[in-house]
Amino acid sequence: MYNKIALFAENIGAEVIKDAPMKKYTSFKCGGNASVLIIPDSLENLNKITAFCYSNSVKPFIVGNGSNLLVTDNGINGVVIKIGSQMSEIRLLDDTTIYCEAGASLKSLCMFALEKCLSGLEFAYGIPGTLGGAVYMNAGAYGGEMKDVLYSVNHIDDNGNTGTLSMDELDLGYRHSAYTNNGFTITSAVLKLQKADKKDIKEAMDDKLGRRKDKQPLEYPSAGSTFKRPEGYFAGALIEDCGLKGYTVGGAQVSEKHAGFVINKGGATSTDVINLIKDVQRIVYDKHKVILETEVKIIGEE
Ligand SMILES: Cc1cc2nc3c(=O)[nH]c(=O)nc-3n(C[C@H](O)[C@H](O)[C@H](O)COP(=O)(O)OP(=O)(O)OC[C@H]3O[C@@H](n4cnc5c(N)ncnc54)[C@H](O)[C@@H]3O)c2cc1C
Repeated sequence: MYNKIALFAENIGAEVIKDAPMKKYTSFKCGGNASVLIIPDSLENLNKITAFCYSNSVKPFIVGNGSNLLVTDNGINGVVIKIGSQMSEIRLLDDTTIYCEAGASLKSLCMFALEKCLSGLEFAYGIPGTLGGAVYMNAGAYGGEMKDVLYSVNHIDDNGNTGTLSMDELDLGYRHSAYTNNGFTITSAVLKLQKADKKDIKEAMDDKLGRRKDKQPLEYPSAGSTFKRPEGYFAGALIEDCGLKGYTVGGAQVSEKHAGFVINKGGATSTDVINLIKDVQRIVYDKHKVILETEVKIIGEE
């Protein structure tokens, strides 16, 4: 079946990679292969390929920039569709409203907003994902989140039909959206921003980026904050309090710079990362009776 889908995608112009090494497509830089990775060349063809998958009873796994993913070492037995720069149009709908395709990077979206003197997205500058991934996760930082700027989101549902969710239907919460539950494919979104002084926007963006560079181990592969913020606590502080900074399993390590980040120190397998995550969860629970849930999505065969 995967071969039939691969052939269909190839015939309409998509890039198709069989036995695709997912370490190349995720920021953690580890993990196994996917049976088939498809990179559509347009939204129109994304629609066709997604519909073809569903009509063959195959649910594709959607990947953006892979910056919140850990693929297991056994890989993904299935079809992965990557939504990237081929679907990254950004344009103004009116003075303060932006249309953005799912594959656009948050960086290019923030730069576009800056260019148009639009404020609201400064918090997202430096988050290394796509618009699609940011909507799915309701990505946020420094007191801002996608919820503050989204107006509506367009998608392809699990019948292969297109549709739209309005703000009321998006169910945006902490690292959660309606898409976390329904699994639809996000194709684009409309965002509402406010006019502001370009210099102020730029200053806020530079400030956020500077804080990231100071505090985060950006020199190593990771998926950002490994754990969600438990209510009333900070994951990093709990982990540090357990003396786990620098704790290592194989090539995976609790960052010495920021205990909330598990990093690939070099040559880590996904099993190293998963075992380290389990150790951290156990040790933090034993000491603080707090359950650390992963923010990073672990996918693939166990
Ligand atoms: C150094 C670093 C710093 C980070 N800092 C932050 C931060 O400050 N705040 C924050 O919130 N996150 C942060 N992250 C995590 C990550 O960048 C965000 O979660 C980002 O929004 C993920 O986008 P992505 O395109 O990489 O999604 P992916 O990692 O590719 O996918 C994440 C999830 O979204 C789904 N998805 C992706 N695209 C689509 C689509 N088009 N349609 C449907 N589902 C889709 C995937 O199926 C998956 O379940 C950081 C990561 C790194 C490596």
